[in-house]
Amino acid sequence: MLKKVTWIWTIVLVLMASVLVGAESREYDIVIVGGGGAGLSAAVEASSAGASVVVLEKMPYLGGSSLLCGGGLAFAGTDMQAEEGVEDSNEDLFNELMEVGGYQNDPALVQAYIAHQLDTYYWLKDLGVIYNFLETGGGMKIRRMHRVKPAQLIDTLAKAAKANGATILTNVAGKRLVRDSATNRVTAVIAEEDGKEVVFTARKGVILATGGFSLNPELLGKFVPAMANAKATVGPGSHGDGLLMGWALGADLKDMPYIKATYGQYPEGNNPNAREMVYYAGAIIVNKAGERFVDESINYKAIGDVALLQDDGVTYQIYDEKIRQYAHETRTRMGILEGEGMVCEADTLEELAAKVGISPSGLVATVEEYNKSIKQNGYDTKFNRTGLAAGVGDLLTIDEPPYYAFPSTGVILGTYCGLAINDKAQVIDVFGEPIDGLYAAGEVTGGFHGSGYMSGTALGKAVIFGRIAAKELTKN
Ligand SMILES: Cc1cc2nc3c(=O)[nH]c(=O)nc-3n(C[C@H](O)[C@H](O)[C@H](O)COP(=O)(O)OP(=O)(O)OC[C@H]3O[C@@H](n4cnc5c(N)ncnc54)[C@H](O)[C@@H]3O)c2cc1C
Repeated sequence: MLKKVTWIWTIVLVLMASVLVGAESREYDIVIVGGGGAGLSAAVEASSAGASVVVLEKMPYLGGSSLLCGGGLAFAGTDMQAEEGVEDSNEDLFNELMEVGGYQNDPALVQAYIAHQLDTYYWLKDLGVIYNFLETGGGMKIRRMHRVKPAQLIDTLAKAAKANGATILTNVAGKRLVRDSATNRVTAVIAEEDGKEVVFTARKGVILATGGFSLNPELLGKFVPAMANAKATVGPGSHGDGLLMGWALGADLKDMPYIKATYGQYPEGNNPNAREMVYYAGAIIVNKAGERFVDESINYKAIGDVALLQDDGVTYQIYDEKIRQYAHETRTRMGILEGEGMVCEADTLEELAAKVGISPSGLVATVEEYNKSIKQNGYDTKFNRTGLAAGVGDLLTIDEPPYYAFPSTGVILGTYCGLAINDKAQVIDVFGEPIDGLYAAGEVTGGFHGSGYMSGTALGKAVIFGRIAAKELTKN
């Protein structure tokens, strides 16, 4: 109790001090902190309902991880799926999301996603967002990942928000939340602009949309020590600012132990496109001893966990010419990997192993055992791999030269955990009560994914919950 009184007074004093030293104050209905997919979707939704809105973005440009990402959005029952003969439904999506999340996810949040997903697909389409193609992503059994170009998505959202009258400020960092000492309501954000403090007062509420904390080793180490020094390829503002701001007000945190690395990233450099899951087209994954260590058809984040435990965390996707051709038909980045010289090629497995530094005898024995098992049983008995991805798709033997090796490791592409929210996107405190006036959306939140992540639902969650938060704040 004493602690609570102390921090409330600290915030009140900070605000009073700001006023005394003449900090500028500006007033809006809604203050949104973070200008990525979640923040901009909230801005479009709120401004279209007539609210006065400001988006604070700490970087010189908008987009965050949403701009860097693969642009996959998981939707079910769309016209695009119907045109391509893909049958999908809310029920299937709900069940698969719960399964992928290990039933650790909050069904109320998954249900909220389901309730708004199809409407959001058409909302984006009506705004002018272009869906380029459908794909099967990690953790899904059918093609429901609708690919957009991230830059086109961000540009469309930013233009729509501005056209509705929203104010979008870059190079302005949210620093602290202000709570009214009498009502306990969150009423403002103290931010830094040009080295000066500015108080952005929110008449209706504040939405935290600051993304994840993949670039904050101290925070990573606090929750999952093994990830503290893992490679991360994310938006440059991913330091967990919003998480800390909400946490400081007593917000509960969800899904923190489940931070995972995505498997399939080229170990060198920092190119977000140097990543491919050839294993979902039939490749096997081996370590430096040439040994397989996992069922390659499981979720790529679960593979990331075991891959990081291998010698140096570096492993190899191994495949032959027919798998390469199938990967070219079904995957998107094969051309980039080959064009940039990341894939090693050889006429024999021994030669391939020697070129990349794997044990030649180990690799030959592994491939022989794998091929034999598929021919004899129709599946791999060693790790019980029964399909290409999520148990679906016939396995292919590796026996048509040339052979290929793509060195791969796990990379953090997002933290997918954080502030507890309810199905209205209100931030929930450690006692299960909503923090009045405080909402959060996107990667800064936890509870939706549970212990695993289905491709396309992080960007999907950002857009959907950004809209939910804005709708809640503008409904009266
Ligand atoms: C390489 C890569 C590929 C991915 N591919 C996919 C995919 O295909 N499908 C999918 O579903 N997900 C994917 N993800 C994950 C997904 O992109 C993100 O989880 C999602 O876009 C997060 O959206 P967001 O708006 O919550 O956060 P962001 O897009 O990261 O936006 C947060 C913004 O807040 C700003 N900010 C931070 N702190 C402050 C502060 N204090 N004040 C003001 N502004 C602040 C940041 O600079 C940033 O611009 C991928 C991620 C990466 C990195």
